[in-house]
Amino acid sequence: MNDSQFYQLIDNLSQLTAYTIGRSIDNQFVLLQSKVSGHHARLIQCTPTSFVLEDLSSKNGSFVNDVRITRKVVDKQDKLRFADTVLTIDEMLASLTIEPTQAKPQPAPVASKAPAKTETNPLDFTHAFADLQQVYTQYPKLKKDCRNREKMIRTGSVILSSIVGISSVLSTGGGALPLLHIMSGAGLSMLVPTLCSTLLSTEEKLEVIEKEYREKYRCPNPACRDPFGTREWELLVQQKSCRRCQAIWVN
Ligand SMILES: [Zn+2]
Repeated sequence: MNDSQFYQLIDNLSQLTAYTIGRSIDNQFVLLQSKVSGHHARLIQCTPTSFVLEDLSSKNGSFVNDVRITRKVVDKQDKLRFADTVLTIDEMLASLTIEPTQAKPQPAPVASKAPAKTETNPLDFTHAFADLQQVYTQYPKLKKDCRNREKMIRTGSVILSSIVGISSVLSTGGGALPLLHIMSGAGLSMLVPTLCSTLLSTEEKLEVIEKEYREKYRCPNPACRDPFGTREWELLVQQKSCRRCQAIWVN
């Protein structure tokens, strides 16, 4: 994950897709169960793998792994329950009538002029470890930037860039459709704060960033993927290898 991808993540956390769940047919995910409230809960997609589940003051409650919640960061492994109905996130996303917002198209990768690798050691992950170092060093910056942006949004010093952001979202047409659908009837004045930052609190954004970080800060060897956790990067640099699979890097 490089610099621009990190900042893209912060931007994405301010412009999210959300799906409502409930008995009424105007939900993105309709649950025809008598104990489910008309508008029961809302699932906010933060990243391809991270979500926030929010109970919309339902009568019989929303549960994550059998614990009643009002709001919680969840992922695809969690078991969601609405009143008596148990669902996985994959099941919900698969049955949505509205396609989730597509990720912004990435610029085409610049063709590498480097000749094909001649190294043959299958445990040489030098390049991957270099990427990982970026992940490690940029994580604190990312968190700080996230807090700063929230502060700026609250004090109004980024109003202009927010409006520019919104018009670009609106002009993407189909891409922004689910969000617009949710906000339909509420008008643009409701849409503005939603796109800025109100879908997630700063703490929730930081929790998602933390989760993404734990997911990325792992051994680059696909056969290993040992989480490095809070182990200091300096220690890894000294050893120049993964303690579990002996993946190495040379520089
Ligand atoms: Zn490893």
